[in-house]
Amino acid sequence: MTIQEIWDKGKDILQAAGVLEYKEDAWLLLSYVTGVSKAIFLCNRNMPIPKEQEAYCNQLFVERAKRIPLQYLTGEQGFMGLIFQVNPHVLIPRQDTESLVEEAGKILKEKQNARVLDLCTGSGCIIISLACLYKFGLAVGADISGEALKVARENAKRHKVDVSFIQSDLFTGISGKFDIIISNPPYIRTGVIASLEPEVREYEPILALNGKEDGLYFYQNIIKQAEEYLVPGGDLLFEIGYDQGEQVSGLLASYGYTDIKIKKDLAGLNRVCMGKRKVEKRCLIN
Ligand code: GLN
Repeated sequence: MTIQEIWDKGKDILQAAGVLEYKEDAWLLLSYVTGVSKAIFLCNRNMPIPKEQEAYCNQLFVERAKRIPLQYLTGEQGFMGLIFQVNPHVLIPRQDTESLVEEAGKILKEKQNARVLDLCTGSGCIIISLACLYKFGLAVGADISGEALKVARENAKRHKVDVSFIQSDLFTGISGKFDIIISNPPYIRTGVIASLEPEVREYEPILALNGKEDGLYFYQNIIKQAEEYLVPGGDLLFEIGYDQGEQVSGLLASYGYTDIKIKKDLAGLNRVCMGKRKVEKRCLIN
């Protein structure tokens, strides 16, 4: 078959399966298997494709038609201009999360030698991209899932950055003090999960999505415990669901955080909520 014929076949299979971006996804799988770029394709649509590559393309089209996310088939996803390895043990990095990294970056530019902790690190995309893009003192990533940490460690190796990864249920395995704590925790309300796209609800790790009944479980627990690990004046930054800004900023306020801000993602939706741990007023009279 020619490359054009295989692409057409892939488009038909994916469209019939209800894949929204069927043209693009069929192309990306085809290009992943053959290594052919769009530019080469456009000059040579009738290029024949070796039989074994054709068979591999067909296999991937069938798997994608089962709504397995494209990134679990190719094993990678771009984030902050870097390529991250992914597998079904980790959430696929989202473009929305880049807003969180950018906010942390602004803080890192102002703080010397900051110690940064990333809770619920998953693939490690947040802490690793920070370590690639900014200079700071200490980078720690924590996750409850040992399988996720294997992926995160591979990603740190790939990008040649020094990040310590620790298996930890939020703070259980963490010691020491940090200047910045950052997290994209699970925040989807349990009742909403069944209505998500099949790619997400059937294949992405539920552990990384489920924020329990009200979606706030992890924010509450992190904010409550952060007092012990965040220095006074330290920054706590979260990714949030588009409708959680008021609740998460309310939680930060109730624990005395100051400078509470909500930031939007590129789609104009509330996506980041951040605050500073209060600085205790020193008693000047002895
Ligand atoms: N943003 C992700 C989604 O829409 C959820 C990420 C999370 O729960 N932390 O599926």
